[in-house]
Amino acid sequence: MTTPVAIVSALHEELAAVLALMPDEQQQTIGGRAFWRGHLHGHDVVAVLSGIGKVAAATTATALIERFGVQRIVFTGVAGGLGDGVNVGDVVVAQRFLQHDMDASPIFPRHEVPGYGRSTFEADAVITAQLVRASEQVLRALPSQLGTDVLNAFGLQAPRCHQGLLISGDRFVSTTAESLALREALPEALAVEMESAAFAQVCHDYGVPLAVVRTISDRADDAAHVDFPRFLREVASRYSSAIIDAFLTQR
Ligand code: SAH
Repeated sequence: MTTPVAIVSALHEELAAVLALMPDEQQQTIGGRAFWRGHLHGHDVVAVLSGIGKVAAATTATALIERFGVQRIVFTGVAGGLGDGVNVGDVVVAQRFLQHDMDASPIFPRHEVPGYGRSTFEADAVITAQLVRASEQVLRALPSQLGTDVLNAFGLQAPRCHQGLLISGDRFVSTTAESLALREALPEALAVEMESAAFAQVCHDYGVPLAVVRTISDRADDAAHVDFPRFLREVASRYSSAIIDAFLTQR
């Protein structure tokens, strides 16, 4: 059997959209998680829900590597925009990752992961470049297919693809005060979510390449929860599956 590529989704709606593209998936349950093995555009694929938060994400990453021997991991999800100009409907492809709630100071510098001597972990350059190409391709074509109702409901216009620092922590950031505090502490952060940096640490431990793309669902402020389910259904899950589709059809 060939070594599979892992397609990880943060939320049910996104996984459902990926599974809809897989004709022959078989389910296997490990650690209470359903892993779906099958094929997508000729690639051997394992699709799974990461679960929300860093612990769930780290367990899922470990199971993918230990039990399925995956040699590449691609993660899609949503995130709250932090950086200037990172707007709802834009896409962020991570170049590096940091756990914003890691703080063992004063023993270690704030954000440094004890035992690693570092606070950031890198995305894999090769699959990240492929994911950027796939995302840009989708951003050129998809928004016009979403319909004016959806575009107006979320104020989407000319969505952009950003690349840079993605930060994760075990909090849904939904107050302007917290968002401002994160921006002040980590001015380079483009977006915040709850899983990717945990995946990055596990992938670093095992030497497995990781690439992550996140659709911006909110601005991590007082309005962050507004219409979140509708955004997942009508925008983010369609972005994710289209980006995965474009990624796996690249040569
Ligand atoms: N209502 C959802 C739960 C969302 S939890 C449900 O029913 O399942 C938030 C998810 O979106 C996580 O996967 C996280 O990575 C991402 N996310 C989006 N915006 C975020 C924000 N502002 N802060 C933190 N995580 C965010």
